[in-house]
Amino acid sequence: MATTARHRAQLETPRPDIALAQSLFESLHEATADGEGVTRESYGPGENAAHGMVRDAARSAGLETDVDAAGNLYMTLPGRDRTAPRVLIGSHLDSVRRGGNYDGAAGVLAGLSAVVGLEQAGIRPAQDVTVMAIRAEESMWFSASYIGSRAALGLLSPGEITRIRRTDSGRTIAEHMVDCGLDPHAVTTEPPRLHPESLAAYYEVHIEQGPVLEERRIPVGIVTGIRGNFRCREARCTGEYGHCGTVPRSLRRDAVAAVSELIFRTDDLWAELEAEGGDLAVTFGVVSTDAALSAASKVAGEIRFSMDVRSQSVETLARMRGHFDSTIADIEDRRGVRFDLGPCSETSPAKMAPSLRTRLAEAAAALRVSATDMPSGAGHDALVFAGLGVPTAMLFIRNAHGSHNPREAMEIEDFAQAAEVLTMVLAGPE
Ligand SMILES: [Zn+2]
Repeated sequence: MATTARHRAQLETPRPDIALAQSLFESLHEATADGEGVTRESYGPGENAAHGMVRDAARSAGLETDVDAAGNLYMTLPGRDRTAPRVLIGSHLDSVRRGGNYDGAAGVLAGLSAVVGLEQAGIRPAQDVTVMAIRAEESMWFSASYIGSRAALGLLSPGEITRIRRTDSGRTIAEHMVDCGLDPHAVTTEPPRLHPESLAAYYEVHIEQGPVLEERRIPVGIVTGIRGNFRCREARCTGEYGHCGTVPRSLRRDAVAAVSELIFRTDDLWAELEAEGGDLAVTFGVVSTDAALSAASKVAGEIRFSMDVRSQSVETLARMRGHFDSTIADIEDRRGVRFDLGPCSETSPAKMAPSLRTRLAEAAAALRVSATDMPSGAGHDALVFAGLGVPTAMLFIRNAHGSHNPREAMEIEDFAQAAEVLTMVLAGPE
């Protein structure tokens, strides 16, 4: 009987400990189930429980474990040269309220199963390989992103810790850290736990949060870059209310028509950019007239709307900004309305390291794991590491029904394929 190439490659390379990951997925679910899904509040009981379980499993498997001032957990397989820059594999263990069992946890357990697999195969890597379970990635709890990874890298300010309050409890990050037995003062006064120059690479595995892999029937995605964005949540367009029968078209200052024109002209430009092979996602997720002032027989005098523009390309984001400036000016002129975009926030895109992407692609090919290049539309801790110049790469795992909901549906076979690719890369020379 012929051995397939996939089996041959599997025999020659160390395997991730999928049974360990599977049992941890089950115990995490059991410990943090909330009826519909799971809830692992940042700096709360759910996240604490998850950290405890993962730490115990890593210790039992023979890894070194350690926790920093902000509560991030490090699980290390010592390398031959302990002073060489280490390889870090990170993801988060918190979840949104009534979230799914895999967003975040899949990345930590992929890293853990890979590193334990190396350990079991008796492989001593050239440099330390550390799995990092990161605190407080989800922004729903504190309205701030990447609290754990920014703390580890010395990017969290004392003001943030004492000022930002958890959206449900009304208590600060510092107060919740104290509840978890941590010392918030040490987070900003002690030297940062991680330095970009002491990191050879940062890998993050995550379930895909969109439908692309599912639709294309591919288990694994190799992320090309994380989209940057600019978002205006409280934009408005003001015109003038008028009677629908008596105000002629030429004299109308119709806010609905104006915002509709902006949306359609933006959609046309998106189609154009798409045809040129550009990367873009534009969403006007909130568009509303004032219910108290609007009526079916009235020209609308005001619209409130939101705009969310994302791209991997700095140039595309700049082009979109230019488009909004000129299109809005033109619409204002012709339609007699005023746009006010309100406070807008922006994040720069992050490119994934080509050398690491190649390594992941080569491992996938050797293992006959079907994988495709794709952008990340959502932000991740990887953004923080890439932003500091650490060579960074991400793998996505196929997942039906999106993330941040109890219906997340990752198959353990797909998880295993991503973990195999990661294990093979970690077993190779850095
Ligand atoms: Zn996540």
